[in-house]
This record gives sequence, C-alpha cells and structure tokens, in this order.
Amino acid sequence: MKLLPHTALSTAAGGLVWAITGEPASVPIAIAAGVLPDVDHLVDYYVKYVRRDGRFQFLLLHGWEYLLAGLIAYVFFLQEPWLLAAVAGYATQIAGDQLSHDRARWNTYLVTARAINGFRAPRHGGWGSGRAYQSLVESVPFGREALTRWFERRLPEE
Ligand SMILES: [Zn+2]
Repeated sequence: MKLLPHTALSTAAGGLVWAITGEPASVPIAIAAGVLPDVDHLVDYYVKYVRRDGRFQFLLLHGWEYLLAGLIAYVFFLQEPWLLAAVAGYATQIAGDQLSHDRARWNTYLVTARAINGFRAPRHGGWGSGRAYQSLVESVPFGREALTRWFERRLPEE
C-alpha cells in the first residue's frame, strides 16, 4: 500500500482513538505507527537494487505478531491512550498491506513465518514482477522518471 492511503487510514484511526480517549496526541502517534514501518522497505530495496540480490525479502517491521503483541500489552499491562493509538495506527498499516497487495498470502506479513523460511522471497509471495519499487516511486513528489530508470537498470538478474 502506498504512502497516501497509509497516511489517510492511520489519521482516521488516530482520530478515532482521540475521540475515545480524549488524547489529541493519539493522531500523530497513530500516523507514526501507521506510516513509519514502511521504512523497512529501504533495507529490501538496498538488498535488491544496490546489492542486486533478488533472493530475499525481509520486511522486518511488517508482522501481524507485532500487532498482537501491542494488543496484549494494551489489554493486559498498559492501558495508555498512546499505546492504543500506536496499536490502531499499526493495525491500519498491516491490514492495509495484507488487503491491498493481491500477491499477499496468509503468511506474507507474518515475520516469524518469513524468518522460518530464511526470508527467501518466493516462499511468501515474493517480489512479484520485480517492480515493487513502484510504490516508492509513486510516493515521491518529484523525480519519478529518473528514479524509475535507476531501478530499471538495477533489476537483479534472477
Ligand atoms: Zn507496509
């Protein structure tokens, strides 16, 4: 899922938590939790396009397990508005990705399942056409053509 829908969904989630808890900081916290996990793509882009190794897909910050851990922490240990906002924002990130990527399988966004498979790309949905960088390209405000050309040149030979 791209930057804009991630931002919109997590803003809505933060607004909801603000309405429930009366804590306005819920909005920026939910946005952070709903958008920042995507920085892990930079690691994958580095491996694939700079190292030109198409075998792996790490997505280290993407995991339903993290959502579950946050929910457990909130329900049983720490009923703080900021934690609820973080959980709600992260829920929009992981659910948004799971539902919007048509190559996503049940285990694509389970970090433990990916780790068990040695983070090898094909076993959990993989890179698809190899053009996964398009989400990044479409998220930048300018320089899209130059960025696309750079990625095209860097596609690993598999
Ligand atoms: Zn994501």
